[in-house]
Amino acid sequence: MRIVMLGPPGSGKGTYASRLSPTLGIPHISTGDIFREEIKKGTELGAIAESYLKDGQLVPDNIVMDVVKERLKREDARKGFIFDGFPRTIEQADSFEKISKIDKVINIVVSDEIVIKRLSSRRQCSKCGAIYNILFLKTKKEGVCDKCGGSIYQRKDDTIEVIKERLEVYKKQTQPLINYYKKKNPLR
Ligand code: ADP
Repeated sequence: MRIVMLGPPGSGKGTYASRLSPTLGIPHISTGDIFREEIKKGTELGAIAESYLKDGQLVPDNIVMDVVKERLKREDARKGFIFDGFPRTIEQADSFEKISKIDKVINIVVSDEIVIKRLSSRRQCSKCGAIYNILFLKTKKEGVCDKCGGSIYQRKDDTIEVIKERLEVYKKQTQPLINYYKKKNPLR
């Protein structure tokens, strides 16, 4: 099964994808997590990605496509994938169409108000990437991941100012993908 999750930042794409992944036996691939991992490792790609992530802007399409193609070469992606945060532009979707089919596109609809509330209280595990929320989805022990014991942190782009910018970027560059996939694929 090849799945793409669409929806604004904070709509729950990552949370749903991480829960669906073990059920379906296919990897959850978050391009955002890949970039954050590269930033943590201090690679050249990480430095480039950071200059966009910090302001809530999108990483250029050619870089994203290289990262996606590399990731899909791994054995675990043979049976399928759940993409979370990719594609994010019409250009990425067009390029992706040339390399893979998509079976389902799931669009999550959430209001701006809820996105802002959720993202400003969102936390993530620095080790396994699991997502929590200090209001709605707390860890059992404060600051410690339930799944792997890693430490919990707040993403730098989860501040009100950057969240608002990310919402604008989503509306301009990613929202058009809803109609794009309505025409081509079974959009849910
Ligand atoms: P969210 O969906 O909560 O905004 P992500 O973890 O998916 O968070 O993405 C974080 C950041 O990583 C984005 O704001 C953007 O800078 C970059 N990014 C992730 N995926 C893509 C992509 N497909 N195209 C361009 N930039 C991306």
